[in-house]
Amino acid sequence: MNLSKSRYCVGIRCQKELWLSCYKEEVAKELDNDVIIENGNKVGEFARGLFGNYILIENNDNKEKMIQETKKYLAKKPNIICEASFSYLNNFCSVDILKNDEDGVEIYEVKSSTQKNEIYIDDLSYQTWILKKLGLNVKKSYLVYVNNKYIKKGEVDRDSFFKIEEITPRPMEEIEENIKKLEMTINNSQEPDIDLSVNCKNNKKVSYDCPYFQYCTRNLPTPNIFDVGWKTTFTKKLEFYYQNKISYSDILSEGGINPKANLQMSSELNNLGPKIDKDSIKSFLSTLTYPLYFLDFESYQVAIPEIDGTHPYQQICFQYSLHYYLEENKELYHKEFLSDDYNGNPMRGLCKKLCEDIPMNSCVIVYNQSFEITRLKEMAALFPEYRTHLLNIASNIKDLYPIFRDQEYYVKEMGGSSSIKEVLPALFPNDPSLDYHNLNQVHKGDEASEAFLSLRTKSREEQEELRHNMLKYCELDTYATVKILQKLNTIK
Ligand code: SF4
Repeated sequence: MNLSKSRYCVGIRCQKELWLSCYKEEVAKELDNDVIIENGNKVGEFARGLFGNYILIENNDNKEKMIQETKKYLAKKPNIICEASFSYLNNFCSVDILKNDEDGVEIYEVKSSTQKNEIYIDDLSYQTWILKKLGLNVKKSYLVYVNNKYIKKGEVDRDSFFKIEEITPRPMEEIEENIKKLEMTINNSQEPDIDLSVNCKNNKKVSYDCPYFQYCTRNLPTPNIFDVGWKTTFTKKLEFYYQNKISYSDILSEGGINPKANLQMSSELNNLGPKIDKDSIKSFLSTLTYPLYFLDFESYQVAIPEIDGTHPYQQICFQYSLHYYLEENKELYHKEFLSDDYNGNPMRGLCKKLCEDIPMNSCVIVYNQSFEITRLKEMAALFPEYRTHLLNIASNIKDLYPIFRDQEYYVKEMGGSSSIKEVLPALFPNDPSLDYHNLNQVHKGDEASEAFLSLRTKSREEQEELRHNMLKYCELDTYATVKILQKLNTIK
């Protein structure tokens, strides 16, 4: 088996992950990363024009063909070669952008991320090692990533959109040692015996959660330390794990973790009933006024901004659902908005309708206010004509989330989470009208984002069906907050 730059980086993070990806890929958790991949591809393609005209080595299953093509163009310096491909002793890499000068080459590795990550240095180091071994003079190595401060004005300007940073590759001997070690791993049929570490989860060194975590923890008791929520960091969980305090009873008998995590564990262990802080909840309820609105936005993010005034990965709102009572204990009404401006700026129509639908100084309930308030402020900055009204809505928001985040209301079915997707079934276990699984096509926020972006290319019939399902999804989000409030109102 051969190494490549992606396999090398996986192996640097964890040799067991590398081995599993070669021999037991089927036990990996399926990653929901289509949007990340699509953004990555678009950023990669966009970066190719950074230094003017370029030659592209087309991706091909026949790596040898890519290598031969590269050789042909390497001889015709100076030029810029994208996806320049090289192999040295069973090590293969394609360089995103190769500046092929008279006196040597420069390597540019392109990432769609807005932050530098340690593993990117390993990525560049591996490529540098291969090229040096092939006798090329690698003058410099660079990381190209997205500048999240960039604001689009007219055509996207590559030079301002990207940040380019020179990287010092790791020492050649270190890379060589790593390669030897990883080659032994992938050519051994025996699964490596490697314990869990900080690298199992996203951190400064690695950029994603390992898809084999479930597999690697399959023999632990259920539930265990890794099921605990409530601000218990992964590093903290590992401390308990290494001390063999893994089951809830072991952890609690040793003094527990923190009061909230302890409540989660003792509730599950001892089958405790709900914990309800009546005074705090009643005090929150007394701040609500009528007419009372329940609001939820849906949004999407793209790496390369399409709308003037927005930055990379800015959340672009395209839809909302709004339930409302004009008077307490009276009829519940519903309004909604889903933009049909698929290629323009969906936020303009959304702001106009939102300002019509929510009168100034109305009380507006959301679940986790930081998202809605930030979006309202961003849109207020983009549309001066709606600024006062949008900021007024933002300033009148009341948030249900802290009641559950602070465990003023806790039921054991919430487990380690206060997200609405956990709270709702915990509070209403047998209500099919509140079950997201019963929806069609769109069941969660990222599916709604993908759905909206896909509307651009769908036929009218497909659009109609998908739009209907998107509306149903968003409607359930606000209906959920209505039901939660109704439940809180029953507290005597
Ligand atoms: S879960 Fe951790 S130990 Fe298991 S393969 Fe992944 S990184 Fe390695």
